[in-house]
Amino acid sequence: PFDVLVVGGGPAGAAAAIYAARKGIRTGVAAERFGGQVLDTLAIENFISVSHTEGPKLAAALEQHVKDYEVDVMNLQKAVELIPAKDLGGLHEVRLENGASLKSKTIILSTGARWRQMGVPGEDEYRNRGVAYCPHCDGPLFKGKRTAVIGGGNSGVEAAIDLAGITAHVTLIEFDSQLRADAVLQAKLRSLPNVTVVTSALTTEVLGDGEKVVGLRYRDRNSEDEHLVELEGIFVQIGLIPNTEWLEGSVALSNRGEIEVDARGATSVPGIFAAGDVTTVPYKQIVIAMGEGSKASLSAFDHLIRSSVL
Ligand code: FAD
Repeated sequence: PFDVLVVGGGPAGAAAAIYAARKGIRTGVAAERFGGQVLDTLAIENFISVSHTEGPKLAAALEQHVKDYEVDVMNLQKAVELIPAKDLGGLHEVRLENGASLKSKTIILSTGARWRQMGVPGEDEYRNRGVAYCPHCDGPLFKGKRTAVIGGGNSGVEAAIDLAGITAHVTLIEFDSQLRADAVLQAKLRSLPNVTVVTSALTTEVLGDGEKVVGLRYRDRNSEDEHLVELEGIFVQIGLIPNTEWLEGSVALSNRGEIEVDARGATSVPGIFAAGDVTTVPYKQIVIAMGEGSKASLSAFDHLIRSSVL
């Protein structure tokens, strides 16, 4: 069995694995896709101390750094069930889709999250070429340009307020007949001169010129009229879904499906920790996921020495 088994190979999982391996304990990482969301990212300009990098490059560096240590990396392995130890000091079990089962004294859950997509023509084609999901990450790339935010919940309205300060203009598009964000955010949004709010609107298409986004088409749900907005950037803010479907019934999840963790990264089950986008920790970012992964790993080590199972 492992001393520490990390499930998920994004920034949080990679950091957790490196911190564990550096303690000289038996460490494994099982990941469906090593690199995680970073693999789907183009420019990264907020990975502190690195002015500019690209997703695939950072993902390769993550994997190389993990492989510098004696870590059992099991890539392309999907976890389908977590069976917590029956008694304190017992082994936790993770079942994989291929039928195999992994056992470990401690577990670090770092299966990340995925952005809900609009599912309209052009969205996939122009991802990272105008279609973006993270205003903290990609907002500055659209400095002085015209943008739209899809989604009028708290994250959409926060994104629109954020982008209004950087970009030339923001069109906020909400499907419902009214915004769902907190009143204080809506008031702030409506006070901004360069924001247009469109409600009862269904986005139907992302338009591009073959290279990059040039516009957005939406349908007015009341009149059924089609409208075209010319712009350079579209931020989709219709939900971030934690990858916790496989964890239901094993560790405590919030009402949004995120794993509940304390300040040490501990979940509701002793010996099981969690880190990164999959948890209740706010602000889903690479540096935050790495910090949380390192922290969860140190907590797992602390748990091992305190429960004297090492
Ligand atoms: P993830 O990166 O989501 O990794 C999760 C890991 O778990 C993956 O290896 C996945 O395959 C694996 N996994 C999932 N389910 C299972 C399962 N059942 N069994 C086994 N493995 C599983 N952040 C920034 O700081 N700067 C940026 O510029 C930036 N740009 C972004 C651009 C895009 C397009 C996207 C989508 C995100 C961007 N982010 C950016 C956010 C950043 O990528 C995430 O915050 C970060 O990757 C979270 O790391 P994580 O390790 O928690 O999760």
